[in-house]
Amino acid sequence: MANEMSQFKATANAHMRRDGEHWTCVCEACHAIRSLMGVDKVLAVRPLVREIQLIEDRLLDHPDGPEKASLEDQFRKLHDQLAAVMEQ
Ligand SMILES: [Zn+2]
Repeated sequence: MANEMSQFKATANAHMRRDGEHWTCVCEACHAIRSLMGVDKVLAVRPLVREIQLIEDRLLDHPDGPEKASLEDQFRKLHDQLAAVMEQ
């Protein structure tokens, strides 16, 4: 059961990142996670997901350097925040 839940979480996370602000995927995993999270949390997660996507895009063709390192740092922090919201 716990294992199933973490698989759901991983799948929903991927779909969330794919869909961004418009995360309305209705597959089994997303449905389960969304009903667990409740509307409030879904709304809290959307801006984080959006920011993660923006940074991910910028990282794709960003030259190496201090700016990239700080973007990567921001990226990790946002992921931690997202994980924290989902764990609550
Ligand atoms: Zn889904």
